[in-house]
Amino acid sequence: MAKIVILGGSFGGLTAAFELKRLLGNNADITVVSDDERFVFLPSLPWLIMGWRRPEDITLKVNEILRHRGIEFICEAAKQIIPEASKILTSEKEIPYDYLIISTGPYLSFEEIPGLGPEKGYTDCTFTLDHAARTGQTWKRILKNPGPMVLGSAQMVSCFGPSYELAFEMDAELRKRKMRHKVPIIYLTSEPYLGHMGVGGFGKSRRFIEDEFAERDIKPIVNQAIEEVTPEEIRLKDGTKIPFKLAMIAPPFKGVPAVAPLGNPRGFIPVDKNYRHTKHKNIFAVGVAMAIAPPEPTPVPVGVPKTGFMTVRMAKTAAATIAAEIKNEILPTPEELSVICLMDMGNTAAFMKAKPVLPPRQKTILKKAIWAKWMKLGFERYFLWKMKHGLSQWP
Ligand SMILES: Cc1cc2nc3c(=O)[nH]c(=O)nc-3n(C[C@H](O)[C@H](O)[C@H](O)COP(=O)(O)OP(=O)(O)OC[C@H]3O[C@@H](n4cnc5c(N)ncnc54)[C@H](O)[C@@H]3O)c2cc1C
Repeated sequence: MAKIVILGGSFGGLTAAFELKRLLGNNADITVVSDDERFVFLPSLPWLIMGWRRPEDITLKVNEILRHRGIEFICEAAKQIIPEASKILTSEKEIPYDYLIISTGPYLSFEEIPGLGPEKGYTDCTFTLDHAARTGQTWKRILKNPGPMVLGSAQMVSCFGPSYELAFEMDAELRKRKMRHKVPIIYLTSEPYLGHMGVGGFGKSRRFIEDEFAERDIKPIVNQAIEEVTPEEIRLKDGTKIPFKLAMIAPPFKGVPAVAPLGNPRGFIPVDKNYRHTKHKNIFAVGVAMAIAPPEPTPVPVGVPKTGFMTVRMAKTAAATIAAEIKNEILPTPEELSVICLMDMGNTAAFMKAKPVLPPRQKTILKKAIWAKWMKLGFERYFLWKMKHGLSQWP
């Protein structure tokens, strides 16, 4: 029986595990290895920071959802992959595989910028449950003792949406509390222009975000790299110094150390159109862990985002490819990836769709509407329910 190991228990890992179980039943031995016992619905972390969600509202226990479906769960961190021997090493075990799917997400590389990050530096972050909980505390302090805030993304980030969402959400909440005039907001980013988002923009996204920020008095500083952060200020490479009381800055992204040796110089894994490693034919990589080349060079380097929507699509393709190979069937020909995004804007939201992900595109939609906010709220409940019940075949 084929032994399939999946690294990571999040959007990509769980989708791949459920799909493989659905397609192969008891004809494969499926194991998920993750260093986190929880599935966290990451898109809701900005709402957790704002105090609009509790951790228990947006997390599931991975073991509980896999156990009933005959999928083994090992809660350990992979330390190394030995592709020549088809095995993974954790600190406790050697785990052999016939096929491996990697969906380990990003390594948040705070150490590339002195003073960056919540652990060894002075900035907050949205990207993990623990970081978001901490940022929520800093936000509460701002509400009690207002002062300047800087939100945004450092160089080599490849996920811009949450910083935009937080800028809109914090602006809306401060206005509701009649204290916006006490909190100057700067949006600082490595993107060459507002609304670039690592994908060369979504249609009119540049004009859209510029207008929305101007209306809300959110001051943009674009096309910048950060030199260092001190307890009081962010120092940019061009010498500008930006004082802050709260700085929520997305750090550079890399591949996680255990899988980075299989990847490009930043540790992201090169794959073909079915998400198979370009060199190791029994290894697949999906989601943030895989490599997508940027659509254009930018003065300050930025990465291409791999959204939850894209990650789920990739995981389904990788699972279908492995299942077809095991059953000696014709391999699937995947459609070109597209992206759908719902960006919360505090009291409204924006719906964005681009097909394909990178320009030139066949189709781009960007609409601001209250129905986009309702869709975002509904999607959170739907996706958590779908994951809880292992319904990966649902859209
Ligand atoms: C704050 C935030 C908001 C977002 N908002 C949206 C949104 O609105 N819409 C959207 O489509 N996308 C959004 N995204 C992006 C979306 O969350 C990601 O695309 C998705 O999480 C990627 O899934 P993944 O499986 O590749 O990686 P991740 O979700 O990062 O999961 C990685 C998994 O690997 C595990 N892992 C890591 N290292 C190891 C190791 N060494 N050994 C074992 N396990 C390991 C982790 O514990 C985790 O389970 C958002 C992301 C963030 C952070």
